[in-house]
Amino acid sequence: MTASSPEARRWVLEGRVQGVGFRPFVFRLAQRYELTGRVQNLNGQVLIEAAGIPSRLDAFASALIAEAPPLAQPRMLAVSRIPVTGLNHFKIMPSDPSGSSAVHVPPDHFLCNDCRREMQTPENRRYLYPFINCTQCGPRYTLITAMPYDRPNTTMAGFALCAYCEREYHDPQNRRFHAEPLACPQCGPQLLFRKPGSEVHGPTALHAAIASLQRGEIVAIKGIGGYHLMCDAEDVSAIDRLRTRKHRPHKPLAVMFPWRGKDGMACVRSHLVLDAEAEAALGNSVRPIVLAPRGPTSGLPESLAPGLSELGAMLPYSPLHHLLLEILDKPLVATSANISGEPVLIDAYEAEARLTQIAEAFLHHDRPIERPADDPVIRFVGNVPRLLRAGRGIAPIEFTLPTPLAKPLLAVGGHLKNTIALGWGQRAVMSPHIGDLDAPRSRAVFEQVIGDLQRLYGVSAQEVVCDAHSLYASSRWAASCGLPVLRVWHHHAHASALALEQGADKSWLVFTWDGLGLGEDGTLWGGEALLGRIGSWRRVSRLRPFPLSGGERAAREPWRSAASLCWELGLDCAIPAADASLVKNAWQRRLNTPLTSAAGRLFDGAAHLLGICGVATYEGQAPMLLEQAAAGAAGVIALPLREDGAGLVTVDWEPLVLSMGHTEISISERAMQFHRSLARSIVDQAVYLRQHSYFERVGLTGGVFQNRLLAELALSELHDAGFDAFLPETIPCNDGGIALGQIAEAGYRHG
Ligand SMILES: [Zn+2]
Ligand SMILES: [Zn+2]
Repeated sequence: MTASSPEARRWVLEGRVQGVGFRPFVFRLAQRYELTGRVQNLNGQVLIEAAGIPSRLDAFASALIAEAPPLAQPRMLAVSRIPVTGLNHFKIMPSDPSGSSAVHVPPDHFLCNDCRREMQTPENRRYLYPFINCTQCGPRYTLITAMPYDRPNTTMAGFALCAYCEREYHDPQNRRFHAEPLACPQCGPQLLFRKPGSEVHGPTALHAAIASLQRGEIVAIKGIGGYHLMCDAEDVSAIDRLRTRKHRPHKPLAVMFPWRGKDGMACVRSHLVLDAEAEAALGNSVRPIVLAPRGPTSGLPESLAPGLSELGAMLPYSPLHHLLLEILDKPLVATSANISGEPVLIDAYEAEARLTQIAEAFLHHDRPIERPADDPVIRFVGNVPRLLRAGRGIAPIEFTLPTPLAKPLLAVGGHLKNTIALGWGQRAVMSPHIGDLDAPRSRAVFEQVIGDLQRLYGVSAQEVVCDAHSLYASSRWAASCGLPVLRVWHHHAHASALALEQGADKSWLVFTWDGLGLGEDGTLWGGEALLGRIGSWRRVSRLRPFPLSGGERAAREPWRSAASLCWELGLDCAIPAADASLVKNAWQRRLNTPLTSAAGRLFDGAAHLLGICGVATYEGQAPMLLEQAAAGAAGVIALPLREDGAGLVTVDWEPLVLSMGHTEISISERAMQFHRSLARSIVDQAVYLRQHSYFERVGLTGGVFQNRLLAELALSELHDAGFDAFLPETIPCNDGGIALGQIAEAGYRHG
């Protein structure tokens, strides 16, 4: 044999290789290198067999990875020599669903540049067509009904392709070859605009919706993962009406900016202060909501995010959003159409029934959404984009576990900001944000996603993991689902999620600061530091516990935290309650006053004591306003540490609470002092604990660390003190990350 005699090889690739145009890419590569053979989707893997001259096979193999389509993330699993016989032409074979279960369910994709150009070209067949897509763009997760990802297994199954689309779909040279949601104005989904007394179908529905928005109306618009409530972001009265009708007086509203200028950023850049990293995050293929400061010349109303300098901004991601925003050419409010805390609405009848008091018109379409996905949210902390909410475009999020799990696990997460996760072998996947589980619709979606993820990935959980708090709806579901139940302490799950992401083989000291979560001693934790590693944590430090007036009610009534802190010190506190003496009396008699060490409640207390927020209308309002208020250079207040006989350190907040009453110092300086003192206390605790404990890394997690000021102060002071310190990036530090932490914690429990 000479070096140029033909050889044949077989490759197996895995990773994100389905629904991303990978097979046609392989086909074109095979033609470039004059190879014969075949490519086939197995269940989650791609099998390639090719014959040709060895040097060309080598070039082909490296191009498979190096030149893969933008959305593909292939990994070479195996390569072998095979006999040359039997391969002629290069063929794309039908999918074989019987293969392994290395399934990857792709997330929803934004509108690619090629499709955007076609949509803007008057001669194009899909000119102004709001459902244009190709192998590199379009919805996936929200329309897949079963795997493998083929058209009959999507909500497009009911749309028969016209002859034109059919040709594109079957032409391996076409960029729409096997684009499963393929559609055109002749054969694909259509818009429907409705308001009382008027109904408009097809292309003119878009213009009816635009006219409605131009009149200042609130329109419920169906997108990729659900409906948005949209209105003119410069129209103060529309915003007021939306807030009144949604019973949402203060919660920040996200704004979608038109794609303008060469790089699409011109409009958003004129309203927000964006550095290169923030622009990259806004424009990346996920198209998340990015929290960024308003610019000095932005004329957008204050009421979009009352009292806050940051705005949640996003760029259009679906062709429908591009069309709306480009024709209107102004920013639009784009807030999830849901009832507080529930998943975003996806169904036309339900949207009309439940939003009739809010929306003045509806823009529907007839491409069904199989399951909801809210917009993901990013905040930069320490110059790194941190995911605060997983959603459309990014979830399901996949993780590689350090070692294989003994059994497939289903983790059902916490109660608020619920997500669920599935773990099997060395894989774990996390669902998009589902919502707060108080409402029946939240629990219905929660159960649907639990069923869907197992079905799509071909995994049946053998055990279910839930929070130790037995009254959470997720924990109650776990107890009744018929599988063996593993319970994980709330803050252990937080710590394990961080460790899983940032160093599963390391030993950690993790500060788990949040609102309230049930702790091992039956009190409500949220200001602890845990020492150990995934599967074995020990509490080594905490904030001084205090009896909290009203228990869980205190989360919406920061004055209760303030009063409880003051009363604990024997001080008075002015409270906005008609029955103030009854409230105090109940506190003194310890009625509904659970002990808590939660840092979140300390932030609430400070916000009320500074007159910033006594009653919150949305979760996290008081700490957000406190962070916003902080400015100046007031000195740090040292918080005393005390260690008990069992080695547990308690940090006393008394001097901090007293300093909130120092009215000779401005409110903003006291707010700054509060943040700086707590950041310093984190460092003091780490330094103290380092004397007789061993840990390689320090972690900060829990919802409190969504506070950028606190997190950045603590991170930088920890680094200055010689610690390797970490904050979650791809897993939300809030309760959205609990499910994944439960997988890690239950899967590797020991000791
Ligand atoms: Zn495209
Ligand atoms: Zn067609």
